Amino acid sequence: MASAHGVLKSLRERLVCLLESDVQEVRLEPLRGESTALRADEARGAFDEVASEDGLVKIRGEMGECNRCPLGRSRKNLVFGEGNARAEILLIGEGPGSEEDETGRPFVGPAGQLLTQIIEKGMGISRSGVYICNIVKCRPPGNRVPLDEETESCLPFLEKQIGVIRPKVIVTLGHSATCRLLKTRGPMHQLRGHWHAYKGIPVMPTFHPSYVLRYYTVETRKQVWEDVRQAMRMLRDLRDSSPH
Ligand code: URA
Repeated sequence: MASAHGVLKSLRERLVCLLESDVQEVRLEPLRGESTALRADEARGAFDEVASEDGLVKIRGEMGECNRCPLGRSRKNLVFGEGNARAEILLIGEGPGSEEDETGRPFVGPAGQLLTQIIEKGMGISRSGVYICNIVKCRPPGNRVPLDEETESCLPFLEKQIGVIRPKVIVTLGHSATCRLLKTRGPMHQLRGHWHAYKGIPVMPTFHPSYVLRYYTVETRKQVWEDVRQAMRMLRDLRDSSPH
């Protein structure tokens, strides 16, 4: 049986032919009684998504069994990132913890459960609709903060991921992610809640979910809620001003 990726690839080839021949609408046989007309803009969206997925697969391939920094020696799994390859919102954390190292997936431990709630309840979107990754892709021993050399060897791959996903808004989670991405300094309570930019993309820093779990106060939770709501407002404004 054909894999989902194989099906998407052949669908993309068909869509490229259609788009190149300037087709405006493709009529499909009704499926289970539904009306199925695929418009050119929907076809373009599907094409973009498969192209971005391919782009991410290529970046992952370039990383290979990465040993560019010492974290490669102690990790169990490289945690590349996961989610929608054409997500409008990208969330960036610091680095994998032990559960992420075991599974190869970002934010699956206790901080990840809180992050899922922030995304689903605070932002009102499904976790699978966003893209989630980290500043470094391998677990720093004992969950320490990543060192400069570790971040520097990993950052080019994150930059490529951002280039492929082209999110409309980035949310950085915690001090490391914020300072490393924005190449800035300063305490988190001053950085969060204010708009910054990465290569023209609006960036909203907020507290890391692990920090929220450690300082589980109404005030901290309220601040994270406000930050992600600002992110959603910005996304709506950007959608209104430039239809996809
Ligand atoms: N903390 C992070 O910063 N990233 C993860 O993936 C998990 C915990």
